[in-house]
Amino acid sequence: MPQKPQAYRLTDPTVEPSAVPGCSECLSLSLNRQNARSRGDYSAVSDANVMLRRHQAEAHTS
Ligand SMILES: [Zn+2]
Repeated sequence: MPQKPQAYRLTDPTVEPSAVPGCSECLSLSLNRQNARSRGDYSAVSDANVMLRRHQAEAHTS
């Protein structure tokens, strides 16, 4: 499924989103990503990045 690029910094696919300090949702999602990477599940890593970007676009727009 093609994804439309958005003119938004956090959606840059070349940069992994990092957790926003103090946000438990970011922390949880970034831990999921760490766990996925540690077990070599790169499709789950990618999913976690998508979820983290989506969450940050909704919750941390500046
Ligand atoms: Zn967050």
